[in-house]
Amino acid sequence: MKNTFHGSCHCSAVRFEADIDLDHGTSKCNCSLCAKTRFWKAFVDENALRITAGANHLTEYQFGSRTIVHFFCRTCGIKPFGCGETADMGVFYAINVACLDDLTPEELLSAPVEYQDGKHDHWERQPAEIRHL
Ligand SMILES: [Zn+2]
Repeated sequence: MKNTFHGSCHCSAVRFEADIDLDHGTSKCNCSLCAKTRFWKAFVDENALRITAGANHLTEYQFGSRTIVHFFCRTCGIKPFGCGETADMGVFYAINVACLDDLTPEELLSAPVEYQDGKHDHWERQPAEIRHL
């Protein structure tokens, strides 16, 4: 079931709402950026994210194939979400579940977690080691 969660960066300059169906799971990836930031995400459709404050505080980072735009707050450095487009998924946002202020740990932990082997560009498969993610 979809619920609307409210999120923010650390300094609260950037605020957003996202409609997320946690039954569809969350995901973690071992790519060079996700591994360094311990990025834990939930994928949503393009129209399921609404920035409610501070869009002008967001700045962007891209690397590698530049498929994904990683947005982060220019004041506090926290990344509330990324945005990408693939043939499979269309335009999507990857919401940082750690930024969701009204998501309880119990709700988060009750959602299934998928793992992606971004380190080897095999997003469809689980990496051999996941315990550190
Ligand atoms: Zn901030």
